[in-house]
Amino acid sequence: AEFAALGLSTELVKAITHAGYTAPTDVQARAVPAAMSGRDLLVSSQTGSGKTAAFVWPALERILAARQDPAKRRDKGRTYGPRVLVLAPTRELAQQVSRACSVYGHGVSGLRVAHVVGGVPYQAQLKALRGPLDLLIATPGRLMDLMNSGAAILANVELLVLDEADRMLDMGFIDDIKLIAESLPAERQTMMFSATFDGSVGHLANQLTREAQRISV
Ligand code: AMP
Repeated sequence: AEFAALGLSTELVKAITHAGYTAPTDVQARAVPAAMSGRDLLVSSQTGSGKTAAFVWPALERILAARQDPAKRRDKGRTYGPRVLVLAPTRELAQQVSRACSVYGHGVSGLRVAHVVGGVPYQAQLKALRGPLDLLIATPGRLMDLMNSGAAILANVELLVLDEADRMLDMGFIDDIKLIAESLPAERQTMMFSATFDGSVGHLANQLTREAQRISV
């Protein structure tokens, strides 16, 4: 019931309850309803706060909603690639997000999730990108390579999430992130998660978001 109060659907509440959770964490209680309203968000929260779920749940709701929208089902989705793009700094984090999508997306029939990260062969990633996809999780460098070769099509992205944005900038991904964001539809929702929004992260937030709501927990 506490999860339903965040605006989450029965399918998702079932998967969440099945994971053994009894109540939302602080960041979930604040970020999920705001995210579901479609607003851009800048969220400061630590690892361990439940922040992954705070963006994966609204992302899955978007995918569920699109499934129920006949116009979207017919014209988009299948042909033009993922509706949700998550950028993460490391392979480990991308895999963690991917696992969270599978766990929480248990009730989303036929959910198609892929993650593409650097340091591994391209072949399996190219194959994953050729099929229809709901949700793509990527490290910025590898995604840029896949975009440049025409393998990653991002014309259908409705929601962009930057996980651990400060770490991505520390790792030198600023130019890749900007180029990726520029190639996405301008009409989209953007959620940034970062320990801080000072300095260059704050500057990036200004460039990538519109009238964003700031949440710190
Ligand atoms: P994160 O901050 O996203 O790395 O999540 C930290 C851990 O908290 C993960 O192992 C999650 O499975 C767990 N978790 C997320 N949401 C909840 C919740 N509402 N109740 C209990 N545990 C949770």
